[in-house]
Amino acid sequence: MLGRRVQLKTPEQLDLMRRAGLVVGETLEVLRAAVRPGVTPRELDALAEQTIRERGAVPSFLGYYGFPATICASVNEAVVHGIPSEVPLQPGDLISIDCGAILDGWHGDAAITVALEPVTAEIAELVRVTEGSMWAGIAANRVGGRVSDIGHAVEAYIRAQPGGERYGIVEDYFGHGIGTEMHMEPDVPNFGRPGHGARLQRGMALAIEPMVTLGSKQLVELDDEWTAVTTDGSWAAHFEHTTALTPDGVWVLTALDGGKAKLADLSGTPT
Ligand code: MG
Ligand code: MG
Repeated sequence: MLGRRVQLKTPEQLDLMRRAGLVVGETLEVLRAAVRPGVTPRELDALAEQTIRERGAVPSFLGYYGFPATICASVNEAVVHGIPSEVPLQPGDLISIDCGAILDGWHGDAAITVALEPVTAEIAELVRVTEGSMWAGIAANRVGGRVSDIGHAVEAYIRAQPGGERYGIVEDYFGHGIGTEMHMEPDVPNFGRPGHGARLQRGMALAIEPMVTLGSKQLVELDDEWTAVTTDGSWAAHFEHTTALTPDGVWVLTALDGGKAKLADLSGTPT
């Protein structure tokens, strides 16, 4: 174990992490395209494992503390760590898919939330706000800043949205350092004041992953000892990317374009 130490990567090591990140990013695009009514999360899980292994990588969730699948599939009021079920997806469902892979010893970790038609305005907005908050957090991941700048940016983005006070920002699960292990120092909460925690520096790799609900931020674990659902039954969304700090800024290792398009949009937006 590395204890409280933050693992800094060389540029060569980040190139290897990029390869792992692309496996995860590509797998999530395959899954996104496969989400439709009638498909079961178990079928998506099998597709994920096949896609990861075809690329020479290994699913990192499978067997992690005994987790029984390649993806976490969290439907509707499930927020994270859902075990892929055999219940077919229905029109109007909301599914969060979290996926991790290891390639040549390096980890990638990312998540998307996909809404099935018909999508209500409320759900569309939940998905937009959650994804937007992740990108706000990614944009706040800058050399010279502090880890808590990221969570502060996530929270500030959410609260600044129309009706932003209504959202629950989950506090029980954090983003995290990542590298030769999936979960490493430091923790990356999705809330809080800026200017605290480890200094953001070149070679750091962080998974940034807000979870947002349409109601309570309080979660409870189901009897399967994995699935975390909202206590009030409100639906939730979860987005995640693995990022790295380079001399050229933040590199989104699990985004197919490295985050270029979204980050260019953000840099043009006054904050
Ligand atoms: Mg994840
Ligand atoms: Mg993660």
